[in-house]
Amino acid sequence: MIPKESKDFIKNNFKKESVVCLTGAGISAESGIPVFRGKGGLWEKYDPQIYAYPEGLISLLRTQPQGLANFIVDFYTLLIKARPNPGHLALAVLEKEGIVRSVITQNVDNLHQASGLRSVIELHGNAFRIKCMECSHTIVLERDRIKEMTELVKINKDSRIKLLKVLSRYFPRCSCGARHRIDIVLFGEMLPEEALTSAYKQLDNCSILLLIGTSLVVYPAASLPLYAKERGAKLIEINNEPSMLSEICDYKITGKASEILPEALTLLGYA
Ligand code: NAD
Repeated sequence: MIPKESKDFIKNNFKKESVVCLTGAGISAESGIPVFRGKGGLWEKYDPQIYAYPEGLISLLRTQPQGLANFIVDFYTLLIKARPNPGHLALAVLEKEGIVRSVITQNVDNLHQASGLRSVIELHGNAFRIKCMECSHTIVLERDRIKEMTELVKINKDSRIKLLKVLSRYFPRCSCGARHRIDIVLFGEMLPEEALTSAYKQLDNCSILLLIGTSLVVYPAASLPLYAKERGAKLIEINNEPSMLSEICDYKITGKASEILPEALTLLGYA
């Protein structure tokens, strides 16, 4: 439940101020995608020191194709099943009503877009897209195609050559000759410059930044709240646990994003 002090702030300020959101894995938890670091998360089963790095994934293909295949299947099975939850939907309504100006997300699950939200800045890419490693040409990876790929990966997971053949089909060569890969930012990789520039631009003149379901341990995304605060924005955290930056937040709302955001909608008279 939203505490009284935060309720008053939302009621008195949201309709007249410029609100931007920074979202993380927590907003998608109720859509069936457990946060990677948490209980039941992917990093419990797969070592992020291997599975979150490009070099790790490439070496798995050579030395442990079954491990890579299982990871691809687990990762995409979660993503293709997930649908926007009331938290994503509430943000889309807040955007439509002119309250939320944009959402900067660290998520790669496409759920903000699926909720109807239009102004989404993807800091870490999108798992439903592939990108040419040379010229950055992108292709949307449709849900049905991913489903088809995971089925084939399951069947061919014990043979490196067969797995490679399946992956080559779904991550084809570009017309420039280079290969496409999943369009997400892996550990140690740079964030897309355009997305980062757009995020800073949004924060340059935002007066309220909502931090929703993010632990704020992943940089440079975690530096964005500090950037906004230095420019005078109020920070409001919606999280079921404290984050790394809870201490500097002006308002802390403890709870699930899928409950708090619809409550905020009602408070503002849009539900
Ligand atoms: P994180 O796993 O580090 O932290 C998740 C945060 O969400 C935690 O602070 C947790 O307390 C909070 N949380 C959990 N359930 C919640 C709920 N129901 N309501 C509100 N808060 C809740 O996630 P992060 O900060 O986004 O950083 C992790 C990185 O992993 C990101 O870069 C992201 O790209 C990636 N990731 C993406 C997804 C996705 O796309 N859905 C899922 C997992 C991880």
